[in-house]
Amino acid sequence: MIIVLKKDADKGQVESLLGWLRARNIKPNVSTGDRETVIGCVGDVAKMDIGLVQALSVVESVQRIQEPYKAANRKFHPEDSVVDCSGMKIGGGNFQVIAGPCSVESVEQMVGIAKSVKASGATLMRGGAFKPRTSPYSFQGLGKRGLEILLEAKRETGLPIVTELMAIEHLPLFNDVDVIQIGARNMQNFDLLKEVGSMSKKPVLLKRGMSATLQELLMSAEYIMASGNPNVMLCERGIRTFETATRNTIDLTVIPVLKRLSHLPVVIDPSHATGYAHLVEPVAMGATAMGADGLIIEVHNDPPHALCDGVQSQTPEMFAETMKKIAAIRPHAWRRA
Ligand code: PEP
Ligand code: MN
Repeated sequence: MIIVLKKDADKGQVESLLGWLRARNIKPNVSTGDRETVIGCVGDVAKMDIGLVQALSVVESVQRIQEPYKAANRKFHPEDSVVDCSGMKIGGGNFQVIAGPCSVESVEQMVGIAKSVKASGATLMRGGAFKPRTSPYSFQGLGKRGLEILLEAKRETGLPIVTELMAIEHLPLFNDVDVIQIGARNMQNFDLLKEVGSMSKKPVLLKRGMSATLQELLMSAEYIMASGNPNVMLCERGIRTFETATRNTIDLTVIPVLKRLSHLPVVIDPSHATGYAHLVEPVAMGATAMGADGLIIEVHNDPPHALCDGVQSQTPEMFAETMKKIAAIRPHAWRRA
């Protein structure tokens, strides 16, 4: 249930409303924005008489909400959330580009790519140490060694690290990681979501499952937030459809749709969405124009020899060009009114 307060609501009466709600085991979350003050009510409001609240002089309107997600819901939190990724802010008008290889392969590869993407304007780096591969015979990632290499690249460049967590027992290894990525295949690994919610407040980049609806994506974000970690970013990486011309199908409408439903930042992954390096730039440009809060792009110094996802990896030169075009679009990007 959402209670919208009148603009000039008397503080004493608001306090007594909050006390009245608490006495009924309802947890009120007050959110004061520029335009309005709203109280999001968490608890069993089903049996409550809305008319009693509506009748109060401080109340503008009362609404029962249908959506099952509360913490991630824009209605409870009208202002955009800003997630601070070790100094790199994402959301609320702040835009960042995360770039790097699909997988960490060696010190030379990771440090070299990190330096080149930084020179082109990337502000965070990506690289998988633990890789979710469709085939058990494919390269599975360097594991713990991969994380050490990412730290080496961070020492060399200062770029914060974004890398995927696949198993709860690996979480202690992620102490120096800046952003935990939850991959598409684990979007509904609820135990993992609860663990990243309760064990740390580190930013989480939550990727949409390949057959997940947006409501399911938001419910997964809700798992993390309800467990205690509000620092969630939603990542669209394309979904599985009947189309075979691209690796996945991306519908950039998700950006304004998610922004209406939720206050969480939206990051777009044009690499996994399309599967081809030549399609990364147009989708990255489109996503920027449509108001994405960030992009995550795969870049490899030698795509034909990449151990994972070489076909969709931009070369550092392609990435540099894309970054220039994105910078030109940014001042004109759509923003929710
Ligand atoms: C990745 O980012 O390398 C990855 C495996 O992505 P996804 O989970 O979106 O497939
Ligand atoms: Mn990849």
